[in-house]
Amino acid sequence: MLAARLNLDTGEFGVKDVPVPNPDPGWVRVKVRACGVCLTDLHMIGGHLRGPHRQTGELTLGHEIAGEVDSIGSDVEGWNVGDRVAISLLHNQADGEHTVGVDFDGGWAEYVVVPAITLVEIPDSLPFDVASIVPDAVSTPWAAITQTAAVKAGESVAVWGVGGVGTHAIQILRFVGAAPIIAVDPLPEARERALRLGADYAIDPRAENAVETIKRLTKGVGVNVAFDFVGISAVELELLQATAPFGRTIWVGANAQPFTLEAPGMLLFMRQQIRGHYASGPEAVPDLLDLLALDRLDFSESISGHYPLTDVTDAIEHLQSKKGNPVRLVIVP
Ligand SMILES: [Zn+2]
Repeated sequence: MLAARLNLDTGEFGVKDVPVPNPDPGWVRVKVRACGVCLTDLHMIGGHLRGPHRQTGELTLGHEIAGEVDSIGSDVEGWNVGDRVAISLLHNQADGEHTVGVDFDGGWAEYVVVPAITLVEIPDSLPFDVASIVPDAVSTPWAAITQTAAVKAGESVAVWGVGGVGTHAIQILRFVGAAPIIAVDPLPEARERALRLGADYAIDPRAENAVETIKRLTKGVGVNVAFDFVGISAVELELLQATAPFGRTIWVGANAQPFTLEAPGMLLFMRQQIRGHYASGPEAVPDLLDLLALDRLDFSESISGHYPLTDVTDAIEHLQSKKGNPVRLVIVP
């Protein structure tokens, strides 16, 4: 089969012919029908990010996967060949959480083998491309909002970075009743989209002081919750400055740079909290697929383009260049 493989030692990346993998006991082989392209993949190809359980050798990337059950390992019950499934990102092993496409071979391939416990059935009405983005690009902001931040209806929020993940955050914040919802992004298309999908205000941080504007829009106090989907220290500091007393700031964007708190005492007086967020728990993907089946949420507009597996480098370049401001590009093997 074909698979897009990254050599973790040399950084070499490309599509290769490799053997079709067989499922071990408890695991299932899935024929990949769609697999999203994520900034995490770009960080891995760029050498800035490695899975905690996989540092060397070759790895098939791709962690936003939907497809059909193709072969079932022993000790697996409840699944049949041909079942339509999405794959949750994480599963636990003795040494901790493992992420598909990060710690073991992922879905930029014709087939992928995954633990049966990570499979989630897709409703018949949902196409594979939309289903594929649920396990990360949608479920990560979903869990950040509903669990880590525990946003309540009526709370004011601000979102820095309304691209491939932050856009979904705007939709979910609207769904859970946050108000007002303030988007912050330098790209005009991203701001327009945020306003269309549920933001009440959209701020261009290059044209105005985002913190001052947010204070003005919230009677001078700041927002109850501020989200960072960017992963830059300067933005993380702005989050704190724009957050109200007793507010929460949620860091979702991966940041490898140092962060300096110049007056840590302010955090005490303001009773603010900084909370980190990563991925989502096992209930997020099934809950979201139910909401999609019931037409409570719709992410079909987020599929900005399809690429065959052989053109995976074109998809990566497209995401890197942000040409046409794509939300999610999907590989179709
Ligand atoms: Zn991702």
